Amino acid sequence: MKLNICHLYPDVLNLYGDRGNVTCWEQRLRWRGIEVQTTGVPIGTPLHAADYDLMFLGGGQDFEQEVLLADLAGAKTAELKAAIEDGMPLLAICGGYQMLGAYYETWDGHRCDFTGALDLYTVGQKERMIGNYLYTCDELQGVTVVGFENHSGRTHLGSGVRPVGKVLFGSGNNGQDGTEGARYKNVFATYSHGCLLPKNPQIADLLLRWALERKYGTADLAPLDDQLEIQAHNYMEQRLRKAMKK
Ligand code: GLN
Repeated sequence: MKLNICHLYPDVLNLYGDRGNVTCWEQRLRWRGIEVQTTGVPIGTPLHAADYDLMFLGGGQDFEQEVLLADLAGAKTAELKAAIEDGMPLLAICGGYQMLGAYYETWDGHRCDFTGALDLYTVGQKERMIGNYLYTCDELQGVTVVGFENHSGRTHLGSGVRPVGKVLFGSGNNGQDGTEGARYKNVFATYSHGCLLPKNPQIADLLLRWALERKYGTADLAPLDDQLEIQAHNYMEQRLRKAMKK
C-alpha cells in the first residue's frame, strides 16, 4: 500500500510550522509499514489532483493569501473543487481553510475571491482571535481537539457545510456562533495551528483512514503507541479546562 500526499503551497502557507501535519501523517504511515510520498505544489506548479490520495493546505498571513490569489484562480481552483467533490481527503488549516470558501475580506478591506469549494465566507476584523483553544469533534464521539488559533478572519458557514464541532474554550470560526471548523465530504477544515495532528492523533488517523478506504476500499490502520501524543493532548486540555473554571 502507498499513499501520495499533495502539500499545496508549501512555499507560502506554512504558518506556525503547519507542515508538521504532513510530517505526522508520513510518520504514522511509516510506523505501519505503509509507503508514503509527499509532493509540494508551490506557486507556478500545475495541480493534477488525480495524482494524489490526500491533500494538505496550511495557514498564511493576509499578505501570503493575496500573493497566491492569481495562481489559485482558474485551473488550480477547478482541480481542487473537482477533487473535493470526488471525495479527496483534504486537511485545511486557517488561511488554507478560508481559501476553500467563496471569499475572504481582510480587516483593511481587501477582497480575496477564493475557490468557493465550500459553502462559507470569511470577513476579517482588526482585533485578532489568538490563543490555545479546545473544541469537540462531533463525528468522533467524546473526542476533543486542542489547537492554537491566530486569525483576523471570522468564518461563517452556509447550509452546505457543517462545523467540525463546538468550541469549549477559545473563539473558533467567529467567536459568536460557538462553532469551529467546517466539514464537507472528506474535507476537514479548521483554524487549528499547533500543529494540529501530533497532539490529536485520532484526527490524523481519521483522514488517513478516509484516504486508504477511498483508494483501496479498506483501511486497516494498526494501533500505535500514542502515549506521548495523548499526554501532550491531555496536558493542554487540562490547562484549558482549568482556565474555563476561572
Ligand atoms: N490571514 C488569515 C487571518 O488572519 C489567516 C491567518 C492564519 O492562517 N493563521 O484570518
